[in-house]
Amino acid sequence: MDILVTGGAGFIGSHFVRGLLNNEFPLAPGGAFTDAAVTVVDKLTYAGNRANLPESHPRLRFVRGDICDRELMLELSRGQDAVVHFAAESHVDRSLVSADDFVQTNVVGTHCVLEAAMAARVGRVVHVSTDEVYGSIAEGSWTEEWPLSPNSPYAASKAASDLIALAYVRTHGLDLSITRCTNNYGPYQHPEKFIPLFATNLLTGRPAPLYGDGSNRREWLHVSDHCRAIFAVLTKGRAGHVYNVGGGTERSNRQIADELLRLCGARPELVARVADRKAHDLRYALDDSKIRAELGYQPLVPFEQGLADTVAWYRENAAWWRALAAARDAQISDGAAAA
Ligand code: NAD
Repeated sequence: MDILVTGGAGFIGSHFVRGLLNNEFPLAPGGAFTDAAVTVVDKLTYAGNRANLPESHPRLRFVRGDICDRELMLELSRGQDAVVHFAAESHVDRSLVSADDFVQTNVVGTHCVLEAAMAARVGRVVHVSTDEVYGSIAEGSWTEEWPLSPNSPYAASKAASDLIALAYVRTHGLDLSITRCTNNYGPYQHPEKFIPLFATNLLTGRPAPLYGDGSNRREWLHVSDHCRAIFAVLTKGRAGHVYNVGGGTERSNRQIADELLRLCGARPELVARVADRKAHDLRYALDDSKIRAELGYQPLVPFEQGLADTVAWYRENAAWWRALAAARDAQISDGAAAA
Protein backbone atom coordinates (compact mmCIF):
# COMPACT_ATOMS: atom_id res chain seq x y z
CA MET A 1 0.00 0.00 0.00
CA ASP A 2 1.02 3.61 -0.56
CA ILE A 3 0.67 6.42 1.94
CA LEU A 4 1.31 10.16 1.64
CA VAL A 5 2.32 11.96 4.83
CA THR A 6 2.27 15.76 4.88
CA GLY A 7 4.57 17.50 7.37
CA GLY A 8 6.49 14.26 7.87
CA ALA A 9 9.73 16.06 8.74
CA GLY A 10 8.19 17.75 11.79
CA PHE A 11 8.02 16.50 15.36
CA ILE A 12 4.94 14.23 15.29
CA GLY A 13 4.95 13.51 11.54
CA SER A 14 8.51 12.17 11.65
CA HIS A 15 7.64 9.86 14.57
CA PHE A 16 4.70 8.58 12.55
CA VAL A 17 6.84 8.00 9.45
CA ARG A 18 9.54 6.16 11.42
CA GLY A 19 6.76 4.08 12.99
CA LEU A 20 5.50 3.13 9.52
CA LEU A 21 8.97 2.35 8.17
CA ASN A 22 9.78 0.17 11.21
CA ASN A 23 6.33 -1.48 11.18
CA GLU A 24 6.00 -0.43 14.84
CA PHE A 25 2.24 -0.06 14.98
CA PRO A 26 -0.05 -2.91 16.07
CA LEU A 27 -1.10 -5.04 13.10
CA ALA A 28 -4.09 -3.42 11.37
CA PRO A 29 -7.05 -5.38 9.96
CA GLY A 30 -5.84 -7.18 6.81
CA GLY A 31 -2.28 -6.09 7.58
CA ALA A 32 -3.07 -2.66 6.09
CA PHE A 33 0.00 -0.40 5.71
CA THR A 34 2.47 -3.05 6.83
CA ASP A 35 5.51 -2.49 4.57
CA ALA A 36 3.75 0.51 3.01
CA ALA A 37 5.60 2.80 0.62
CA VAL A 38 5.73 6.21 2.30
CA THR A 39 5.89 9.54 0.50
CA VAL A 40 6.61 12.55 2.70
CA VAL A 41 5.84 16.06 1.49
CA ASP A 42 7.29 18.80 3.67
CA LYS A 43 8.17 22.43 3.03
CA LEU A 44 11.01 22.24 5.58
CA THR A 45 10.04 25.44 7.34
CA TYR A 46 12.06 26.39 10.45
CA ALA A 47 10.10 23.56 12.18
CA GLY A 48 10.86 20.84 9.62
CA ASN A 49 14.11 18.93 9.69
CA ARG A 50 15.13 16.42 7.02
CA ALA A 51 17.45 14.83 9.60
CA ASN A 52 14.38 13.68 11.57
CA LEU A 53 13.92 10.97 8.94
CA PRO A 54 16.26 8.25 7.66
CA GLU A 55 18.62 9.62 5.04
CA SER A 56 17.59 6.81 2.74
CA HIS A 57 15.19 3.92 3.10
CA PRO A 58 13.82 1.59 0.40
CA ARG A 59 10.22 2.50 1.32
CA LEU A 60 10.68 6.26 1.82
CA ARG A 61 10.42 9.01 -0.75
CA PHE A 62 10.97 12.58 0.46
CA VAL A 63 9.63 15.54 -1.51
CA ARG A 64 10.38 19.08 -0.44
CA GLY A 65 7.22 21.00 -1.27
CA ASP A 66 4.39 23.18 -0.08
CA ILE A 67 0.94 21.71 0.61
CA CYS A 68 -0.47 24.95 -0.82
CA ASP A 69 0.88 23.92 -4.25
CA ARG A 70 -2.23 22.35 -5.78
CA GLU A 71 -0.51 20.79 -8.77
CA LEU A 72 2.18 19.20 -6.64
CA MET A 73 -0.38 17.87 -4.18
CA LEU A 74 -2.45 16.37 -7.00
CA GLU A 75 0.62 14.74 -8.52
CA LEU A 76 1.70 13.30 -5.16
CA SER A 77 -1.80 12.13 -4.24
CA ARG A 78 -2.31 10.03 -7.36
CA GLY A 79 -2.08 6.33 -6.60
CA GLN A 80 -2.03 6.82 -2.82
CA ASP A 81 -4.20 4.59 -0.64
CA ALA A 82 -4.17 7.11 2.19
CA VAL A 83 -3.10 10.59 3.22
CA VAL A 84 -2.19 11.50 6.79
CA HIS A 85 -2.12 15.26 7.11
CA PHE A 86 0.22 16.69 9.76
CA ALA A 87 1.63 19.75 7.96
CA ALA A 88 0.81 22.92 9.84
CA GLU A 89 2.19 25.99 11.48
CA SER A 90 2.00 24.72 15.04
CA HIS A 91 3.39 27.22 17.54
CA VAL A 92 0.77 29.35 19.33
CA ASP A 93 3.26 32.10 20.24
CA ARG A 94 4.18 32.67 16.61
CA SER A 95 0.50 32.96 15.69
CA LEU A 96 0.17 35.82 18.20
CA VAL A 97 2.89 37.76 16.38
CA SER A 98 1.60 37.06 12.86
CA ALA A 99 -1.17 34.74 11.72
CA ASP A 100 -0.43 34.94 7.98
CA ASP A 101 1.40 31.62 7.67
CA PHE A 102 -1.15 29.94 9.95
CA VAL A 103 -4.10 30.90 7.76
CA GLN A 104 -2.14 30.07 4.62
CA THR A 105 -0.84 26.63 5.60
CA ASN A 106 -3.45 25.45 8.08
CA VAL A 107 -6.55 26.65 6.22
CA VAL A 108 -5.62 27.11 2.56
CA GLY A 109 -3.07 24.28 2.65
CA THR A 110 -5.54 21.84 4.20
CA HIS A 111 -8.03 22.76 1.51
CA CYS A 112 -5.41 21.89 -1.13
CA VAL A 113 -4.72 18.55 0.57
CA LEU A 114 -8.45 17.75 0.54
CA GLU A 115 -8.96 18.84 -3.07
CA ALA A 116 -6.03 16.74 -4.21
CA ALA A 117 -7.22 13.71 -2.24
CA MET A 118 -10.66 14.05 -3.82
CA ALA A 119 -9.38 14.51 -7.35
CA ALA A 120 -6.95 11.58 -7.00
CA ARG A 121 -9.62 9.39 -5.37
CA VAL A 122 -7.48 8.64 -2.33
CA GLY A 123 -9.20 5.92 -0.29
CA ARG A 124 -8.66 7.27 3.23
CA VAL A 125 -7.59 10.56 4.83
CA VAL A 126 -6.71 11.42 8.44
CA HIS A 127 -6.61 15.08 9.37
CA VAL A 128 -4.46 15.61 12.47
CA SER A 129 -5.95 18.33 14.65
CA THR A 130 -5.69 19.55 18.22
CA ASP A 131 -7.67 19.91 21.45
CA GLU A 132 -7.01 23.66 21.25
CA VAL A 133 -9.97 24.01 18.85
CA TYR A 134 -12.30 23.60 21.86
CA GLY A 135 -10.94 26.68 23.66
CA SER A 136 -10.38 26.48 27.42
CA ILE A 137 -12.34 24.51 30.02
CA ALA A 138 -12.29 25.34 33.74
CA GLU A 139 -13.48 21.90 34.89
CA GLY A 140 -14.65 18.63 33.35
CA SER A 141 -13.53 17.55 29.87
CA TRP A 142 -14.49 17.97 26.24
CA THR A 143 -16.24 15.28 24.24
CA GLU A 144 -16.02 15.33 20.43
CA GLU A 145 -19.47 17.02 20.31
CA TRP A 146 -18.28 20.06 22.24
CA PRO A 147 -18.71 23.34 20.28
CA LEU A 148 -15.50 24.75 18.81
CA SER A 149 -14.40 27.94 20.56
CA PRO A 150 -10.73 28.55 19.68
CA ASN A 151 -8.91 31.49 21.24
CA SER A 152 -5.52 31.82 19.50
CA PRO A 153 -5.07 32.39 15.76
CA TYR A 154 -3.33 28.97 15.69
CA ALA A 155 -6.34 27.24 17.25
CA ALA A 156 -8.76 29.18 15.04
CA SER A 157 -6.89 28.15 11.89
CA LYS A 158 -6.99 24.49 12.99
CA ALA A 159 -10.72 24.77 13.79
CA ALA A 160 -11.31 26.21 10.33
CA SER A 161 -9.43 23.31 8.76
CA ASP A 162 -11.46 20.79 10.79
CA LEU A 163 -14.71 22.31 9.53
CA ILE A 164 -13.56 22.30 5.90
CA ALA A 165 -12.45 18.67 6.29
CA LEU A 166 -15.83 17.64 7.72
CA ALA A 167 -17.61 19.53 4.93
CA TYR A 168 -15.66 17.43 2.39
CA VAL A 169 -16.95 14.26 4.05
CA ARG A 170 -20.55 15.44 3.98
CA THR A 171 -20.49 17.16 0.60
CA HIS A 172 -18.18 14.93 -1.41
CA GLY A 173 -18.18 11.66 0.52
CA LEU A 174 -14.44 11.83 1.27
CA ASP A 175 -13.45 8.99 3.64
CA LEU A 176 -11.83 11.16 6.29
CA SER A 177 -11.50 11.15 10.08
CA ILE A 178 -10.10 13.78 12.42
CA THR A 179 -7.92 13.32 15.49
CA ARG A 180 -7.83 15.99 18.19
CA CYS A 181 -4.93 15.36 20.49
CA THR A 182 -3.70 16.96 23.65
CA ASN A 183 -0.15 18.33 24.17
CA ASN A 184 2.58 16.00 22.92
CA TYR A 185 6.09 15.61 24.27
CA GLY A 186 9.05 13.43 23.32
CA PRO A 187 12.31 13.42 21.33
CA TYR A 188 12.72 15.57 18.18
CA GLN A 189 10.37 18.35 19.37
CA HIS A 190 11.55 21.80 18.32
CA PRO A 191 13.17 23.63 21.27
CA GLU A 192 10.70 26.52 20.99
CA LYS A 193 8.02 24.36 22.67
CA PHE A 194 7.59 24.28 26.45
CA ILE A 195 9.23 20.99 27.50
CA PRO A 196 12.23 21.11 25.09
CA LEU A 197 12.71 24.84 25.75
CA PHE A 198 12.97 24.14 29.45
CA ALA A 199 15.08 21.01 29.02
CA THR A 200 17.59 22.62 26.65
CA ASN A 201 17.93 25.77 28.76
CA LEU A 202 18.12 24.03 32.14
CA LEU A 203 20.62 21.45 30.88
CA THR A 204 22.90 24.29 29.84
CA GLY A 205 22.41 26.33 33.02
CA ARG A 206 20.35 29.05 31.39
CA PRO A 207 17.07 30.59 32.67
CA ALA A 208 13.81 29.03 31.51
CA PRO A 209 10.86 31.42 31.14
CA LEU A 210 7.55 30.44 32.75
CA TYR A 211 4.42 32.28 31.68
CA GLY A 212 2.53 34.07 34.48
CA ASP A 213 2.13 32.11 37.70
CA GLY A 214 2.41 28.75 35.89
CA SER A 215 -1.12 27.72 36.86
CA ASN A 216 -2.23 26.91 33.30
CA ARG A 217 -3.03 23.22 33.05
CA ARG A 218 -2.55 20.81 30.15
CA GLU A 219 -2.84 17.10 29.52
CA TRP A 220 0.38 15.51 28.27
CA LEU A 221 0.79 12.54 25.94
CA HIS A 222 3.95 10.89 24.67
CA VAL A 223 4.32 11.35 20.93
CA SER A 224 4.55 7.57 20.37
CA ASP A 225 1.09 7.14 21.93
CA HIS A 226 -0.31 9.88 19.70
CA CYS A 227 1.12 8.15 16.62
CA ARG A 228 -0.41 4.81 17.63
CA ALA A 229 -3.75 6.59 18.03
CA ILE A 230 -3.45 8.11 14.54
CA PHE A 231 -2.65 4.71 13.05
CA ALA A 232 -5.69 3.21 14.81
CA VAL A 233 -7.91 5.97 13.42
CA LEU A 234 -6.38 5.55 9.95
CA THR A 235 -7.06 1.82 9.87
CA LYS A 236 -10.22 1.47 11.97
CA GLY A 237 -11.80 4.92 12.36
CA ARG A 238 -15.14 5.87 10.85
CA ALA A 239 -15.53 8.46 8.09
CA GLY A 240 -16.80 11.82 9.30
CA HIS A 241 -15.87 11.03 12.89
CA VAL A 242 -13.68 13.00 15.24
CA TYR A 243 -11.54 11.13 17.79
CA ASN A 244 -10.17 12.89 20.86
CA VAL A 245 -6.75 11.59 21.89
CA GLY A 246 -6.20 12.42 25.54
CA GLY A 247 -3.26 11.73 27.77
CA GLY A 248 -4.90 11.33 31.11
CA THR A 249 -1.90 13.09 32.72
CA GLU A 250 -2.90 16.59 33.71
CA ARG A 251 -0.26 18.93 35.11
CA SER A 252 0.09 22.67 35.67
CA ASN A 253 2.97 24.33 33.85
CA ARG A 254 4.51 25.01 37.27
CA GLN A 255 4.46 21.27 38.08
CA ILE A 256 6.13 20.48 34.74
CA ALA A 257 8.75 23.16 35.40
CA ASP A 258 9.49 21.62 38.83
CA GLU A 259 9.78 18.13 37.32
CA LEU A 260 12.18 19.43 34.66
CA LEU A 261 14.31 21.24 37.23
CA ARG A 262 14.66 17.93 39.08
CA LEU A 263 15.39 15.85 35.96
CA CYS A 264 17.94 18.37 34.67
CA GLY A 265 19.56 18.76 38.08
CA ALA A 266 19.14 22.54 37.80
CA ARG A 267 18.81 25.27 40.44
CA PRO A 268 15.19 26.43 41.10
CA GLU A 269 16.18 30.09 40.48
CA LEU A 270 16.64 29.23 36.81
CA VAL A 271 12.85 29.18 36.33
CA ALA A 272 12.07 32.84 35.62
CA ARG A 273 8.51 34.10 35.60
CA VAL A 274 7.66 36.27 32.59
CA ALA A 275 4.52 38.21 31.56
CA ASP A 276 1.66 35.89 30.66
CA ARG A 277 0.84 35.02 27.07
CA LYS A 278 -2.06 36.98 25.53
CA ALA A 279 -5.41 35.18 25.97
CA HIS A 280 -3.59 32.24 27.55
CA ASP A 281 -5.99 29.28 27.76
CA LEU A 282 -6.29 28.21 31.38
CA ARG A 283 -6.95 24.50 30.97
CA TYR A 284 -7.33 21.79 28.33
CA ALA A 285 -8.90 18.42 29.15
CA LEU A 286 -10.22 15.77 26.77
CA ASP A 287 -12.76 13.02 27.26
CA ASP A 288 -11.17 10.29 25.13
CA SER A 289 -13.58 7.46 25.95
CA LYS A 290 -14.68 7.22 22.30
CA ILE A 291 -11.30 6.19 20.85
CA ARG A 292 -10.70 3.83 23.79
CA ALA A 293 -14.09 2.09 23.45
CA GLU A 294 -14.38 2.10 19.67
CA LEU A 295 -10.79 1.49 18.53
CA GLY A 296 -9.32 -0.22 21.60
CA TYR A 297 -6.66 2.47 21.96
CA GLN A 298 -5.02 3.47 25.23
CA PRO A 299 -1.82 5.34 26.02
CA LEU A 300 1.11 3.12 27.03
CA VAL A 301 3.88 5.48 28.15
CA PRO A 302 3.64 6.53 31.83
CA PHE A 303 4.23 10.26 32.04
CA GLU A 304 7.05 10.17 34.61
CA GLN A 305 8.99 7.61 32.56
CA GLY A 306 8.29 9.38 29.26
CA LEU A 307 9.44 12.74 30.63
CA ALA A 308 12.62 11.28 32.13
CA ASP A 309 13.43 9.54 28.82
CA THR A 310 12.76 12.76 26.92
CA VAL A 311 15.15 14.78 29.09
CA ALA A 312 17.74 12.02 28.67
CA TRP A 313 17.29 12.24 24.89
CA TYR A 314 17.88 16.02 24.89
CA ARG A 315 20.88 15.52 27.17
CA GLU A 316 22.39 12.99 24.73
CA ASN A 317 21.44 14.72 21.48
CA ALA A 318 22.68 18.29 21.86
CA ALA A 319 23.97 18.12 18.28
CA TRP A 320 20.35 17.85 17.11
CA TRP A 321 19.04 20.90 18.98
CA ARG A 322 21.95 23.32 19.54
CA ALA A 323 21.58 25.21 16.25
CA LEU A 324 17.78 25.24 16.53
CA ALA A 325 18.00 26.64 20.07
CA ALA A 326 20.42 29.35 18.95
CA ALA A 327 18.07 30.36 16.12
CA ARG A 328 15.15 30.31 18.55
CA ASP A 329 16.97 32.60 20.99
CA ALA A 330 17.85 35.01 18.20
CA GLN A 331 14.23 35.18 17.00
CA ILE A 332 12.14 35.24 20.15
CA SER A 333 13.43 38.23 22.02
CA ASP A 334 11.54 37.68 25.28
CA GLY A 335 12.23 33.96 25.09
CA ALA A 336 8.80 33.01 26.47
CA ALA A 337 7.15 29.82 25.38
CA ALA A 338 4.37 27.74 26.77
CA ALA A 339 2.47 24.62 26.02
P1 NAD B 1 5.81 20.79 13.75
O1 NAD B 1 5.75 22.27 13.73
O2 NAD B 1 6.90 20.12 14.51
O3 NAD B 1 5.86 20.21 12.27
C1 NAD B 1 5.12 20.76 11.22
C2 NAD B 1 5.73 20.28 9.92
O4 NAD B 1 4.94 20.80 8.84
C3 NAD B 1 7.16 20.77 9.70
O5 NAD B 1 7.98 19.70 9.25
C4 NAD B 1 7.02 21.85 8.63
O6 NAD B 1 8.17 21.97 7.81
C5 NAD B 1 5.83 21.32 7.85
N1 NAD B 1 5.11 22.39 7.13
C6 NAD B 1 4.72 23.60 7.61
N2 NAD B 1 4.10 24.30 6.63
C7 NAD B 1 4.10 23.52 5.52
C8 NAD B 1 3.59 23.68 4.21
N3 NAD B 1 2.97 24.80 3.83
N4 NAD B 1 3.76 22.67 3.32
C9 NAD B 1 4.39 21.52 3.69
N5 NAD B 1 4.90 21.32 4.93
C10 NAD B 1 4.74 22.30 5.83
O7 NAD B 1 4.37 20.34 14.29
P2 NAD B 1 3.97 19.06 15.16
O8 NAD B 1 4.07 19.41 16.59
O9 NAD B 1 4.66 17.87 14.62
O10 NAD B 1 2.42 18.97 14.81
C11 NAD B 1 1.96 18.20 13.69
C12 NAD B 1 0.45 18.30 13.63
O11 NAD B 1 -0.12 17.85 14.87
C13 NAD B 1 -0.07 19.73 13.44
O12 NAD B 1 -1.14 19.69 12.53
C14 NAD B 1 -0.53 20.15 14.82
O13 NAD B 1 -1.59 21.08 14.73
C15 NAD B 1 -0.99 18.83 15.41
N6 NAD B 1 -0.91 18.71 16.87
C16 NAD B 1 0.25 18.98 17.53
C17 NAD B 1 0.30 18.81 18.92
C18 NAD B 1 1.57 19.06 19.70
O14 NAD B 1 1.55 19.01 20.94
N7 NAD B 1 2.72 19.29 19.06
C19 NAD B 1 -0.83 18.40 19.61
C20 NAD B 1 -2.01 18.14 18.90
C21 NAD B 1 -2.03 18.28 17.53
